Amino acid sequence: MKEILQRIHAESKHASAHGSVASYIPALASARPEALGLAAVTAEGKIFAVGDARTRFTIQSISKVFALAYVMTELGEDAVFSRVGKEPTGDPFNSIIRLETSAGRKPFNPLINAGAIVVSGLMPGFSPEDKGARFRAFVGQLIGRKDVERDEAVYLSEKGTAARNRSIAWFLKELDLLPGEVEETLDVYFRQCAVSVDAVDLARAAAVLCLDGIDPVRGERVLEARTARVCKSLMVTCGMYDGSGEFAVDVGIPAKSGVGGGIMAAVRDRMGLGVYGPALDDRGNSAAGLDALRRLSEELDLRVL
Ligand code: GLN
Repeated sequence: MKEILQRIHAESKHASAHGSVASYIPALASARPEALGLAAVTAEGKIFAVGDARTRFTIQSISKVFALAYVMTELGEDAVFSRVGKEPTGDPFNSIIRLETSAGRKPFNPLINAGAIVVSGLMPGFSPEDKGARFRAFVGQLIGRKDVERDEAVYLSEKGTAARNRSIAWFLKELDLLPGEVEETLDVYFRQCAVSVDAVDLARAAAVLCLDGIDPVRGERVLEARTARVCKSLMVTCGMYDGSGEFAVDVGIPAKSGVGGGIMAAVRDRMGLGVYGPALDDRGNSAAGLDALRRLSEELDLRVL
């Protein structure tokens, strides 16, 4: 497995040249565009890591899966899906347009920004700090680490520049979908997006999803099976933003990406994969990460769709 990852790492590295690092959150622009890390955690609990797999980066939109799992665990499925749909949009992740034009007037799914901000608004806790800390503890359970941190610079950078997300949140308030204060809800969302992880962490969480809630390293259940299945289903249809259909055809694995450059992919009953490559394509997905997942899927016959 390690040799395969090493070979694919060498083959996919050049694909970072087809992307560029996100800069709309200014602090993300300092990432090394040529970085590439690949990690796998198998159903037997073996961990493989190559390249920049131990480099920390911010989880960004991948947090939307964890936030969904967290709120489903704490408040139940209905709390989320009475306010957010389960349908893909085909629009960019930060699009606002359908909030006004769709008949239901609720976000299409929890993996686009609008849906994710609603989910952040449901997180339990006394303050944004407390909610952020509880969320990080939940993520720590999934990835087997107690010391999950937030990248303060990225958090402050997004908080200081997020005009688009503020617009979305105010629109959600008008639709009566945010129970709390708009700015506090956004604060929770920025905190969750700035959680700092590496590719191994993502592979570990993906392994939990691939085994319907069991962490293969500790051999313990850390998530309800139903929660894991809901997350994976939405990852198939919505996880790669408006590139989800193409990814399903090319790679055929439930996956979720973030503009920090991470992708996690859960291969049913076999392994969790985590990749890091901060140069993004024009949909906001890691360019080298996509290339590596395409090759891995082909080479190891990972396709589940
Ligand atoms: N924090 C980012 C945003 O809201 C997350 C987006 C992403 O990773 N696609 O813009």
